[in-house]
Amino acid sequence: MFNNIIGQVQTVTALNKEIATGTLPQSLLFYGPKYSGKLSTALEAARILCCEYGTAKWSCNCPSCNLNRNLLHPDVLMTGPRYFGNEISASGDAFLRTGRLGTRYLFIRAVRKLTRRFDPVIWDGINRPNTIGNEIREIEGKLDIIRPGTELPSSDVLQENIESITELSLGLEKAVTANNIAIKQIRNISLWAHMTSTGKNKIIILENAEVMQESSSNSLLKLLEEPPPGMYIILLTRRRTSLIPTILSRVRQYPFFIRSKTEVSLVLKKIFNELSGSYENLQEYFNSWQDITPIALEKAAEKFMESVLKGDGSQNPLSEIDRKVDIFSSKENAGEFISALLDVLHSLLKNRFLQTENDSVLSDIFSVEKINKLKNIIYDSYQNSITLNIKPSLVLNSLFYNMREAVRE
Ligand SMILES: [Zn+2]
Repeated sequence: MFNNIIGQVQTVTALNKEIATGTLPQSLLFYGPKYSGKLSTALEAARILCCEYGTAKWSCNCPSCNLNRNLLHPDVLMTGPRYFGNEISASGDAFLRTGRLGTRYLFIRAVRKLTRRFDPVIWDGINRPNTIGNEIREIEGKLDIIRPGTELPSSDVLQENIESITELSLGLEKAVTANNIAIKQIRNISLWAHMTSTGKNKIIILENAEVMQESSSNSLLKLLEEPPPGMYIILLTRRRTSLIPTILSRVRQYPFFIRSKTEVSLVLKKIFNELSGSYENLQEYFNSWQDITPIALEKAAEKFMESVLKGDGSQNPLSEIDRKVDIFSSKENAGEFISALLDVLHSLLKNRFLQTENDSVLSDIFSVEKINKLKNIIYDSYQNSITLNIKPSLVLNSLFYNMREAVRE
């Protein structure tokens, strides 16, 4: 089991053992950096838990495994805010370049990670734009042309098909509830969890679980504490320390680590068919689909926060950065930047305890209330950067002034 997961030996070994001995807990937390394989592992766990033959080999022929390989199993749901564009573009490109079955699955799964978020179970009673149903049907129609087992069309037709799916998906992405996992969604999931089903296992995978409003967290607590029989909840996070302690105490935690260079080369070679050695890490690979490196992003976030904390008449440093390289014309970059800001804020929070006591300015800035206030401002802005039709650079601009105002208060 989990043969397709590269690296993460500690967690994979634990999961294997627990599943084999029937001791897998029902509430799980996978935590670790981006691109460390959390979602792939969660989806693989879901496939194994749903397998009708119980063998759960990757090539298993049971109807359930077939649905899960295509991310179409009705008993496996995904939710939580995230970006999809890079993954869909990168895997579409890999599929076009190689035409291999593995990359075909990769592309189809990248798209469905997005479309499955609109599962009616999750959205019941929540307003969503009427056109979404049509758009998803259109995407599904185009995915059907390339579904595994069918002969691929000519390369021109294939390219057009993939480009069209990618474009439609990017349009759809904007409609995903961005920042918070709405309380109504959690309630819907809870209802679904308690509905008597075929007696099979049900799995909910919740990505970026740390970006959740308090009301949603509280609603989730009940489910985590007493999941109905056969229900598994897998939370994924990059920032375990941002989760509230009451959630942390109700889940078993599984660490994911930054992959070694050898493992990354393996992932790139095996999955994307890239020549090994050309990319330092997976993040870099995905970032090559946009024009910003993680280090540049981190530096920009630090500089931004520094200007915010100065609280004087200083200018938004982003306008200067943006003029030079125009990196914030993309929503994805803006979102990544905002996410990097949260990291900076957290490291500031840690360092707060290292400051000398008579450093009154810092201790004031870093009061817990103030930190929470800044955090909320950042969350709001994250949501706006995805959902609103505003230039991302404008969102960041108002983020700067809102944060600075909060610091000055
Ligand atoms: Zn199976």
